[in-house]
Amino acid sequence: MKSHDLKYDVIIAGSGLGGLLCGSILAKEGMHVCILEKSRKAGGCLQTFKRKGVVFDTGVHYFGGMDPGQTLHRYWDYFGLTKSLELERMNRDGFDIIGISDREYPMAIGFDHFVEQLLPHFPSEKENLEKYTCSLKVISAGFPLYNLELPKDHTEEKYRSQSAFDFFYALNESENPSDGIHTGRLSSVLAGNNLIYAGNRKHTPLHLPALINHSFISSAWRTVGGSAQIAEKLMEGILSNGGEIHLDEEVIGICLNEDEFEVMTKPGRCFTSKKFISGIHPAKTLKMMEPTVFRKTFFKRITNLKNTVSSFAVYIVLKDRSFPYLDHNYYYHSTDDVWNESNREGWPSGYMLHTPAPASEDGFARNMIILAAMPFKKVKKWEDTRKGNRGSEYLEFKDHFAASLLELAEQRFPGLRSAISYMEASTPLTWRDYTGIPEGSMYGIERDYQDPLITTLLPATKIPGFYFTGQNISLHGMLGVTIGAVLTCGEIIGLEYLLNNIRNT
Ligand SMILES: Cc1cc2nc3c(=O)[nH]c(=O)nc-3n(C[C@H](O)[C@H](O)[C@H](O)COP(=O)(O)OP(=O)(O)OC[C@H]3O[C@@H](n4cnc5c(N)ncnc54)[C@H](O)[C@@H]3O)c2cc1C
Repeated sequence: MKSHDLKYDVIIAGSGLGGLLCGSILAKEGMHVCILEKSRKAGGCLQTFKRKGVVFDTGVHYFGGMDPGQTLHRYWDYFGLTKSLELERMNRDGFDIIGISDREYPMAIGFDHFVEQLLPHFPSEKENLEKYTCSLKVISAGFPLYNLELPKDHTEEKYRSQSAFDFFYALNESENPSDGIHTGRLSSVLAGNNLIYAGNRKHTPLHLPALINHSFISSAWRTVGGSAQIAEKLMEGILSNGGEIHLDEEVIGICLNEDEFEVMTKPGRCFTSKKFISGIHPAKTLKMMEPTVFRKTFFKRITNLKNTVSSFAVYIVLKDRSFPYLDHNYYYHSTDDVWNESNREGWPSGYMLHTPAPASEDGFARNMIILAAMPFKKVKKWEDTRKGNRGSEYLEFKDHFAASLLELAEQRFPGLRSAISYMEASTPLTWRDYTGIPEGSMYGIERDYQDPLITTLLPATKIPGFYFTGQNISLHGMLGVTIGAVLTCGEIIGLEYLLNNIRNT
């Protein structure tokens, strides 16, 4: 293809959910869209892989708000996703089970049901449980885009500058330690799924758990057969509207030539457009540009931002009829200190375990993923190595930590280890090389309630035609990245116009 053929209205770097959603919106609007993806498969964290014929998700295990009329359903209707995805509703009485030490607590679907299900475990905490669900409703009502409304005032800002930890901790005031439960147990339980937002005692702002938990309590779902179907449906829509998706086309340089972007890729091609959207990590994006394009202070701010913690995971193919299918996730913590577990000595002290859908015909699980937060420093000494070539010490490290994680999980699920037919593990390095996210961070830039302005990235920049999208702008996850894509494209085609189209679908 000659370079003059590689001219588009908009180029999008990265085919993760953010890039694909932006591509869908703009292609629908008649723009000539080109998505450039470094991997051989599209989807970023939506990608799946197969072992022994069983499908494993990489970065999407469940999401919320998919009943008609709920937030994600309303957005995804516009993208044609609500009727075409194969989904399974998670257990109404407990989509997440939180295990702390030797006790277990359900997080149920439906706000009243959520309180009812936890009340037997905290009989004296009705008021605090109701205060919690009521706060989730108030906070989510304060975020216009969560309700498909145009942002008008700044009510949501106050939640970005409040500590999530303090909010949960304050819910313990009336707890009676004499009932045999650790003081503070209620707050530990309510924050017990904080791996899904990389909860950090010192930094996490309140809006993250509030919006995420509101959406899960509204309704919780997992995909049947893997999350790659989300990427496939979006790609179909983009291609049918004349868009192009180039795989194995890693972006390595972005130049601004007058009012046109020239995007260079590893295979040696140059793509041009008037508009450019980066769906890859902002720090990586800026490092691909001439240092003079953005102000030094902006460059320094973005490239110095901290990222959320990374993860270590084991992917297990189970023997036939050896382990029951769980229609919920299981989050385990060995102590009540459920925050910042990854940094403690004696890793791991907690994990998230789930059995992906579908179950086998006789109701058993086919496979399992166990995930725990792991800081990059644990693998730093191998940071200059590449997949398949990291050396024997690294392989020993992986085996050792996989065995430790399994040992902890076996305490709750006796017989688990003997149910394994095949197993492999991933580390922060696997994740870094697979997604291109610095240090293999799970959710990109870490938002900090003490510095909300600095750690919040806007989709539009000072450079006309240059935008960001993906998990680093609004929120991470299916819901957050969807809202982020709408914000990004709203900058290009008008947010009010776009929201109207979405609401009227
Ligand atoms: C372990 C884990 C579990 C998770 N579980 C859930 C969950 O259960 N529910 C949920 O809602 N969310 C979950 N998330 C979060 C969710 O997956 C992400 O927030 C979301 O998918 C991010 O989408 P994105 O488009 O911003 O980025 P990504 O999916 O990271 O996409 C970025 C894309 O850019 C590509 N790329 C990178 N560099 C280049 C380059 N130079 N040139 C071209 N392409 C490039 C990458 O290959 C990738 O395809 C999880 C995340 C992790 C890590």
